[in-house]
Amino acid sequence: MNQTGTFPSPVGGLLEDRMWRGIDDGRMALPFCQACARAVYPPSGCCPHCLRTELPWRPLSGMGRIVSWTRFHRTYLPEYPAPYTVVAVALAEGPVMVSRLLGPEPANDEWIGLAVRMCYAQFDKGRKLPCFRLAAET
Ligand SMILES: [Zn+2]
Repeated sequence: MNQTGTFPSPVGGLLEDRMWRGIDDGRMALPFCQACARAVYPPSGCCPHCLRTELPWRPLSGMGRIVSWTRFHRTYLPEYPAPYTVVAVALAEGPVMVSRLLGPEPANDEWIGLAVRMCYAQFDKGRKLPCFRLAAET
């Protein structure tokens, strides 16, 4: 999906920059704790579960399931004209990530537990934003 307009500035920082570079390459990655095998999101230099610092980066599968959703009926940013839908997704790797749902919505209004797949909205200057589509639609 091509998106017009200015890319909203992501939060910067050493670890966030690495995550955003992966997103811009269309392959989001996160640090994973070597001790407890949990993904660390947002990225951190220390596992929030066991406080270990050995956190090699791995790409995400892109799969997840909807745990919550809402529809915005008001435009807050010109890049996101209303109405648009935002989903909270439990990634297959564990963390919950919030982003937009693109494409068709569930036909029967049963959202919770539906499988989604990460996709990337393309903005200007090569920037991308991770979003989701229903897995059945991809
Ligand atoms: Zn850990």
